[in-house]
Amino acid sequence: MALPLADLRGPIRALFSDIDGTLTTAGRIEASTYTALERLGDAGVPVVLVTGRPAGWGQAFMSVAGVAAVVTENGGVTWVREGKRLSRLYGVPANSLPEWRRRMLELYAEVAAKVPGARLSTDSKYREVDLAIDWNEEASLSPADADNVVAMIRKAGFTASRSSVHVNFGPPHFDKLSACVTVIRQVLKGDGNDLDGYAFVGDALNDAPMFGGFPKSIGVANVRAWWDELSFKPAYLSEAAEGAGLREVVEHVLKVAKG
Ligand SMILES: [Mg+2]
Repeated sequence: MALPLADLRGPIRALFSDIDGTLTTAGRIEASTYTALERLGDAGVPVVLVTGRPAGWGQAFMSVAGVAAVVTENGGVTWVREGKRLSRLYGVPANSLPEWRRRMLELYAEVAAKVPGARLSTDSKYREVDLAIDWNEEASLSPADADNVVAMIRKAGFTASRSSVHVNFGPPHFDKLSACVTVIRQVLKGDGNDLDGYAFVGDALNDAPMFGGFPKSIGVANVRAWWDELSFKPAYLSEAAEGAGLREVVEHVLKVAKG
């Protein structure tokens, strides 16, 4: 079992945070949660958002929120700032994307024919690298059907992971942990081989690679819903769920960040 958040020690140079079910509470960002992230930034601890959501979400967050970088599409597209300019780093070569997209739409048609109710997420239109099948946002597939979708996609040679709302799938050559290592090197000017100075907080199955990669990995309490299915589990757990859990994490990081 994971340790309580109170046992987490600094130093912590930056906080990497998931969005859905971690930054959001019942689908929305509460004002107090947003304020908590601002306090962290003001205290000199940069915030990096890490999500399965589309590239366009990253562009929006980079434009209107004080975040250092945003990893979107589970590592498919990472947004960084170069001076005043926003730029994108792709998890697969950009010139290979049209061919990947063609093959992914073919695969989606096969999945939709076999799993009743499986449809592309409404945000799939705004994705550059991956696509998502909605299982629990506007759709209501059972977890078993969602797992079936994941298995079919992996069998076809694509990457697939299940978040609290979607099954994201895409070319097999990228992941969000690698994207975070790039952010550490390029944006935070740190050593990408040593993640011990950074913390990650998340809530779902698609965060498992991050729980495995960050020694200071934290689950907000709602992660317990998937506990037995997590291939890597968070080292620490907050007491509260969703945004309240993230606020708890921020309070603690503010205390221990400087070691
Ligand atoms: Mg999440």
